[in-house]
Amino acid sequence: MFESLAEKLQSTFKKLRGKGKVSEADVAEAMREVRMALLAADVNLKVVKNFVAKVKERAIGQEVLDSLTPGQQVVKVVHEELVALMGGTSSKINMSQKPPTVIMLVGLQGAGKTTSVSKLALYLRKQGRKPLMAACDVYRPAAVKQLQVLGNQLDIPVFSMGTGVNPVDIARGAMENAIATGRDTLLLDTAGRLHINEELMGELKNIKSTVKPHEILLVVDAMTGQDAVNVAETFHEQLGLDGVILTKLDGDARGGAALSVKAVTGCPIKFVGLGEKAEALEPFHPDRMASRILG
Ligand code: GDP
Repeated sequence: MFESLAEKLQSTFKKLRGKGKVSEADVAEAMREVRMALLAADVNLKVVKNFVAKVKERAIGQEVLDSLTPGQQVVKVVHEELVALMGGTSSKINMSQKPPTVIMLVGLQGAGKTTSVSKLALYLRKQGRKPLMAACDVYRPAAVKQLQVLGNQLDIPVFSMGTGVNPVDIARGAMENAIATGRDTLLLDTAGRLHINEELMGELKNIKSTVKPHEILLVVDAMTGQDAVNVAETFHEQLGLDGVILTKLDGDARGGAALSVKAVTGCPIKFVGLGEKAEALEPFHPDRMASRILG
């Protein structure tokens, strides 16, 4: 994860750390390299500009340059600003006081939605909750079956009505089923499309207004970089998101989406997918990510 970005930044800061005294020119040179590394990592251009400007402003302050370990101090500033860029603290799921809490997962086809529904259900069960998964993706033929298979493997119930039913009715049915069977958390697997279109958004808006989810999470593929950020922007404008699940971070050497999503959309990344297995989902911790990038 983030290997190529981490390698570049770490080599920049190794040079800086080695210096007994750091001049403004040294900081400027380091920031030029940071800027190039972030752009190569496919971080949003505006985000890069703001980030570098902020770090520069703080790093050429006398406190840093006059300190005994100026190189170290610059790295500390970069670390703090990376954490802030990714949202500061980790964000939790909004849980309803009155069960069931309804969590709706949305996203484009192939992003990892169905997989993430089951991963999140497993994660929540480990927290002592009683999840029910609902198969509202009637568009991709194998999705219902896929969720049922995952539910069987994890021993988590799945509500489905096949593929011939309107997803809004399935969501409503799932809600009634959750109440009747005493499940306190309902996870909706909704349909994706290859691209964002009106039909997709219309369907998602209908489900939203019918079941009034407490949490809408967008699932996006980290490997698609700025495309993922653009998708998040559009979904947030049209549907209103509470957060993002960033999948396939295990294969993402660059980190552009992870570093841009919050700054561009205002939506926090709440979870990251780190592999295909059901256990490969973790809450997103900006500070740990920053440490990973800076070594
Ligand atoms: P959907 O169309 O959005 O429901 O996508 P799926 O859940 O079917 O996932 C598409 C593919 O991505 C599957 O092969 C998943 O195993 C894979 N996948 C999902 N999340 C991750 C992840 O975090 N890491 C990796 N390496 N693969 C993932």
